[in-house]
Amino acid sequence: MEQTLAIIKPDAIERNLVGEILKKAEEAGLKIAALKMLKLSKEEAQGFYYVHRERPFFDSLTDFMSSGPIVVAVLQGQGAIQRWRDLMGTTDPAKAEEGTIRKAFGLNVEKNSVHGSDSPESAVHEIAYFFSKMEVANP
Ligand code: UDP
Ligand code: MG
Repeated sequence: MEQTLAIIKPDAIERNLVGEILKKAEEAGLKIAALKMLKLSKEEAQGFYYVHRERPFFDSLTDFMSSGPIVVAVLQGQGAIQRWRDLMGTTDPAKAEEGTIRKAFGLNVEKNSVHGSDSPESAVHEIAYFFSKMEVANP
């Protein structure tokens, strides 16, 4: 059983897409093991995206991610990391596959509606960034 961190980004919250996005995760058979809404400060967004600190899009991305509320969730299931990334689609919505969340809802390469961990190591790190042990349902 694997867990991954999912984020519904501010662009999707603003358009009332929380229910639709969580529904897609549940319909794909992923279980919601933790869920909450919060608003990141600029510093907290920089901390979350620390691996991207040298990238040209870092400042704009962390402005965007701290611009409004986000929903963070732990999704759980066999192969949850890859399954959630497949459901999200590729980073740029213009290039995302049919049937993916980013294809359906993403606005552009930055405002692409969702995040998902990219490896078991980042999933552990990212889940711990947002949730205490007590807040995550046992696998
Ligand atoms: N991003 C951006 N411009 C780019 C690449 C990425 O604004 O050229 C943003 C986008 O919101 C993306 C996030 O930075 O989701 C993290 O980038 P990453 O390459 O990790 O993409 P992801 O894993 O989210 O598909
Ligand atoms: Mg990434």
